[in-house]
Amino acid sequence: MPSEKNALVTGANKGIGLEISRQLAEKGFHVFLTARKPDAGLKAAAKLQKQGKATFIELDVTEPDSVKRAARELAAAVDHLDVLINNAAILEDDGGVLDIDPKEVQKTFETNTLGPLRVAQTLWPLLAKSDSGRIINVSSGVGALHDMESYAPAYSISKTALNAVTRQLAAALKSKGIAVNSVSPGWVRTDMGGSGAPRSVEQGAEGVVWLATEAPPSLTGQFIQDRHVIPW
Ligand code: NAP
Repeated sequence: MPSEKNALVTGANKGIGLEISRQLAEKGFHVFLTARKPDAGLKAAAKLQKQGKATFIELDVTEPDSVKRAARELAAAVDHLDVLINNAAILEDDGGVLDIDPKEVQKTFETNTLGPLRVAQTLWPLLAKSDSGRIINVSSGVGALHDMESYAPAYSISKTALNAVTRQLAAALKSKGIAVNSVSPGWVRTDMGGSGAPRSVEQGAEGVVWLATEAPPSLTGQFIQDRHVIPW
């Protein structure tokens, strides 16, 4: 049976991803902190190494070769992965749905939707070697269809589609013992969320870390916020 718990977090050099990594390291995980910018990633990993086991791996979720290289590096270091946190995302909307350049929507999809899909497709065999593999897609409340309005169309649509990726992966990976869920961290004070957001990064990361560690393994294919299932 696998003993050491391993987790990989994308976009972990700052914001919620860094705090998720910190909390997982504190709980005894060997955290593979990944980032597209090596300088920022190495600096963040060096900080975490004071609190627990952290290793930096370069990973740009939009680049298939980068994802493959990162997977090779991970597989050389560990024989299984317990937790994959697809956290990396961009929010670059500057127009409404009536005038947004479809190329901007495509760019956002590349990171926020196809990035997590690409990383999950590459890493699931290593997750299948865990006794309780978990994929957590960090989504957003603004991706929920039931009350969607006009806010940030490219970002919102990319997160709705990410939720569909979650459902597809959950169904496909159930027989492999891998749980797959979407999580909303709430509105959090980060570069993306801005300084006026009500939640700290600690509060934003808490529900994600719960899903990664304490949630029942039978919980899969759901959209979660603050430990509760929320409507799509
Ligand atoms: P953030 O501070 O802007 O951090 C985003 C992270 O994603 C950064 O590390 C960034 O790296 C990375 N990233 C972007 N593109 C990437 C790529 N192609 N490959 C690898 N990494 C990439 O945002 P955050 O607020 O922490 O957001 C984290 C997650 O929470 C995201 O999925 C976001 O959608 C979600 N979320 C946030 C809020 C909020 O209020 N903050 C609300 C709902 C959901 P660089 O430093 O290189 O740019």
